Amino acid sequence: MRNYIALAVFASVVTAAACGQKSAVQTAADTLKVSTIKTLQVTGSGTNFSVGQNYTSSDAWPPVTVKNYTASIDYDAGSMRTELVRQMGAVMPQGGGAPFFGEQRQNQLVSGNFAWNMGAPGPNGAAPMAQPAPDAAAERMLAVWSTPIGFVKAAMTNNATTTPSGSGTDVSFTVNGKYKMEGTINAQGQVEKVRTWFDQPIVGDMLVETTYSDYKDFGGVTYPSHIVQTQDGFPALDITVSAVTANPAVDIQVPENVRAFQPPPIRVESQKLAEGVYYLTGGTHHSLAIEMADHIVVVDTPNNQARGEAVLAKAKELIPSKPVRFVVTSHHHWDHLGGIRAAIDEGATIVTHQSNEQFLQRVAKTPHTIAPDRQASSNKPVMIQAVGDDGQLTDGKRVIELHRLQGYGHTADMLVVYLPKEKILGEPDAFTPPAQQGASLIPPAVPSAKALNDNIKRLKLDVRTIAPFHGNRTTTVAELEKAAATPAVSTN
Ligand SMILES: [Zn+2]
Repeated sequence: MRNYIALAVFASVVTAAACGQKSAVQTAADTLKVSTIKTLQVTGSGTNFSVGQNYTSSDAWPPVTVKNYTASIDYDAGSMRTELVRQMGAVMPQGGGAPFFGEQRQNQLVSGNFAWNMGAPGPNGAAPMAQPAPDAAAERMLAVWSTPIGFVKAAMTNNATTTPSGSGTDVSFTVNGKYKMEGTINAQGQVEKVRTWFDQPIVGDMLVETTYSDYKDFGGVTYPSHIVQTQDGFPALDITVSAVTANPAVDIQVPENVRAFQPPPIRVESQKLAEGVYYLTGGTHHSLAIEMADHIVVVDTPNNQARGEAVLAKAKELIPSKPVRFVVTSHHHWDHLGGIRAAIDEGATIVTHQSNEQFLQRVAKTPHTIAPDRQASSNKPVMIQAVGDDGQLTDGKRVIELHRLQGYGHTADMLVVYLPKEKILGEPDAFTPPAQQGASLIPPAVPSAKALNDNIKRLKLDVRTIAPFHGNRTTTVAELEKAAATPAVSTN
């Protein structure tokens, strides 16, 4: 017994002598009660933002009001449930984002490497179905370790290195062997800032920076009352915390269908709209492939690298022995641009509105180390053909007109594609015909449909077929006109 005590005293002397004082990570662990907090619930309200949906490629992300924000975390399990109640009026703020109206509940979950969303309960209280969201797993896992308590826990288990910085300490380490995390702990042991990066198909290793300020005592738990997170440089979340509970019951089980989920193979289906003009569907975002004399023009390589590659491959299968020389990108929103690096790697000239030139130069060269794609090794320089309000691609026979939609709140750089001879109009986002013909649009979708209709009139386009880049069918100007005339419902 005596020997044991002697050894213990000796050890503490050595530690004190080596460090001189308590380490910043240990100070933070004590301040934030890291060793006693196993689960946490944080409640608040504020704003989240539609990342990748800015009005122009240099604007901030458009905001959505978050009436209620609740994050429930189980640190030992590496799991988190984020419940959001979002609100939208009859008119969306300038920029994109999936249109919705009224209140929208989102329930986002992560546990280890699994991510999923839960819908609302079904009729008669039937349990909601879990929707696997594997693409969100890295971001959500990093969100757990980016919380102040999570950051300190992860620093302690991942051999963090520390360096003095101003009045605080910079702390850095790697989680899951591949995700770099950096943070700053101030002299009071408060985590002030956390930076991490996850893969995004367009902008590559994307910086997520979370700033914590106005620490308060929430019933014995020291926690920031203001959380601001940026993604790719613009605010993505801004929450004012109203309550924090230590060690509530948090039970997050990975649903069986999430655990067993295998992403279905990518399907690109085609529909011939006219000789040499193909409507490429089969996913959430559609494209066009157009045959020219000695090359192919593709309109939109959406979603992600894999979809972009599949769309290009389908175009070459439908129109054999010709290269894809031009890829028109309808607008800069990330859901429609996700496969753009596949198009750059393909060697195609990117046809885009002139406001996107700088952004695409950056996209071609951005570091892609977390999930390297082909462009990361080929490093092809991007070739851009910039278009102003109107442009044209032609081989002398076929004409493809490009027109920028004016008075369109969704984005400033939307190019619709018009084939005057075939009387076909390709358009993303402005008008998605409801699955059921004749059903009316939700109020925030009406101004977009109206803008498209107004532009068709302004440009005197003679359209027989509208090929929308969302939805399950082509449509006509008659249907568009009807949808655009629906009076917007007042929210008051
Ligand atoms: Zn869009």
